[in-house]
Amino acid sequence: MTKQLETGIYNVRNVGRYIVQENALDFLPQILESRPDINIGSAIFIVDEFFQQDTDLVGRLPIRDVDSIFFVPTKDEPTTEYINALYSEVVSAGRRNRNIEAIVGIGGGTTLDTAKAVSNLLGNGGRAEDYQGWDLLTKPGVYKVGVPTISGTGAEATRTCVMTSKKTGLKLGMNSDFSLYDQLLLDPTLTKTVPREQYFFTGMDAYIHCAESLTGSYRNSIGDALSEKSLKLCQDVFMSDDMMTEECRAKLMVASYLGGCAIATSYVGIVHPFSAGLSVVLGLHHGVANCIALNGLKNFYGAAQEELVAMTEKQNVVIPQSVCSGLGGDDLDRLYDATIIHEKPLINALGSDFRDILTRDRVINLFSQM
Ligand code: NAD
Ligand code: ZN
Repeated sequence: MTKQLETGIYNVRNVGRYIVQENALDFLPQILESRPDINIGSAIFIVDEFFQQDTDLVGRLPIRDVDSIFFVPTKDEPTTEYINALYSEVVSAGRRNRNIEAIVGIGGGTTLDTAKAVSNLLGNGGRAEDYQGWDLLTKPGVYKVGVPTISGTGAEATRTCVMTSKKTGLKLGMNSDFSLYDQLLLDPTLTKTVPREQYFFTGMDAYIHCAESLTGSYRNSIGDALSEKSLKLCQDVFMSDDMMTEECRAKLMVASYLGGCAIATSYVGIVHPFSAGLSVVLGLHHGVANCIALNGLKNFYGAAQEELVAMTEKQNVVIPQSVCSGLGGDDLDRLYDATIIHEKPLINALGSDFRDILTRDRVINLFSQM
């Protein structure tokens, strides 16, 4: 019997609509034109900074004089401070031009989450940090279209948009049905230009989400089915001779979407809390931090860790080692605090006595092997 979740997600909602095929991006003009208010309003395009150079993609976007485009920096993952600043610029653009009727997010997890957060703020007002938590948004945001350009996080499919407050150090998303995209364009041709290592690390996020939720104790039968399929697609991709063929990129895009749907009905486990510790203290990005964490958690995820190693060998990717060497007292405290704070995933993996298993000494010892 599956155990129900305690976040209030009993009645699961998925994204409104999706088109999945090569060149799905070409449907964007007709998708936007079909919106009743778009002719009297404007659209905001929120695009990964990589495409500032790739004028080909920007040239294909149906941007009119009344619309605006903003490029999202990806050196750092989204902060509440950044979201608030971008939101004010978007509001100004809306005042200058016309009422904003659509947000189009094009990019990786960073950009897709940024676009969700801006849409939510346009609908609810206030500041990003007001909505970090569960079901704090009371109104829908502006209609939003998501176009992923790298696969793995599942951000295109989930009901959250992750952000960190620099002031409080809190890394928490706006978890809400209002954070779901209304429309997705899943176009595997867009991931062709992703650098190989980045492709691997972000792609493995899908694998790790599924491996964690399938070994946890909070379960959902549809979530399990989605996770199993997503995991299988990731195995096909990362154990193939070349993970970036057209076929593999198409498979990984589906794995990412399914993994996102699955995680919306379940929880991650121990890898993500350790990964969050590495991100908060060392500033490592989510994908690579996950792989470093899984690689050091052999005692908890033996089979997945072995498979990770086999995949890195097959794809000739190197997982950074000894990233915590040289860290001292304060940093070790921060690592422990930033890990142990993730109670729900840790309970999911280890039960309510997880603090007895993950003592401070053990956590520090595990980090020292990463
Ligand atoms: P990312 O969005 O930061 O992108 C990684 C890099 O790839 C960037 O340098 C970007 O410019 C580049 N890139 C993206 N598409 C490209 C393309 N087609 N060609 C060349 N370069 C390209 O990385 P990510 O791993 O997709 O996202 C990480 C973020 O997602 C984190 O902030 C994490 O917290 C968040 N996340 C969110 C959810 C969710 O449910 N909302 C789930 C997991 C992770
Ligand atoms: Zn993740």
